[in-house]
Amino acid sequence: MQTIKLENVSKSFGDLKVLSNVNFSVESGEFVAIVGPSGCGKSTALRMIAGLEKPTTGKVMANEQIIDQPDPERTLIFQEHALFPWRTVGENVEFGLELANVAKEEREARIQAILIKVGLTDFKDYYPGQLSGGMRQRASIARALVMDPDVLLLDEPYGALDAITKLKMQNELMNLWLGSQKTMILITHDIDEAIYLADKIFVMSPRPGYIKDMIIVDLPRPRNRNGTEFIKIRERI
Ligand code: ADP
Ligand code: MG
Repeated sequence: MQTIKLENVSKSFGDLKVLSNVNFSVESGEFVAIVGPSGCGKSTALRMIAGLEKPTTGKVMANEQIIDQPDPERTLIFQEHALFPWRTVGENVEFGLELANVAKEEREARIQAILIKVGLTDFKDYYPGQLSGGMRQRASIARALVMDPDVLLLDEPYGALDAITKLKMQNELMNLWLGSQKTMILITHDIDEAIYLADKIFVMSPRPGYIKDMIIVDLPRPRNRNGTEFIKIRERI
């Protein structure tokens, strides 16, 4: 389990001040959404939590330890999903499992289970180029979920999906969260999505001089975390 904390974090790219004195913390098991206008530094903040970017000043920490490199327990799911075009869906999902030296038999079982969850069982042997944008997105979500990370960092993962697929994927994410102790940090520019899914919303706002500040909105909601479905979608057969 991981507690994520940003302490007086500032980040500049050359003369461009992107984040200024940002403070927030995410408790283990919380579902937090970060909203704010385009260019306000949301992806930059998430990339720092993923260990892909360092703050100019301040501390980005997981369990009070400075984050200075990527960790498979904190997986970033991108807006622009980057599947390997030369690998099939199954082989893409298998990638992290291979790196982690998971045995072949277990790899097969985990790939099968996750492809059922994202509705891509019939497309296991397809290449990314043969899939729709929404299917590619689901494949990249499957690739991240199959590793069973403690913390899921989601950078506008549903932007490119049609409304029905989006609802299904949101539901799947909620079910996953309800049935686990995973920490979720979701970036979205869709405030409705944030209110629908998160316990807490961090609102980042642009100010003159690129100084950003943050409003924290608490959404206390009782939720049954024993694996109960968030909403039920009845499939028409
Ligand atoms: P958001 O995700 O909220 O849309 P980003 O964090 O992607 O915003 O970007 C914030 C600002 O930082 C933007 O002006 C963007 O152009 C700039 N930026 C992001 N990454 C880099 C980088 N690696 N080099 C230079 N500028 C960057
Ligand atoms: Mg972004």
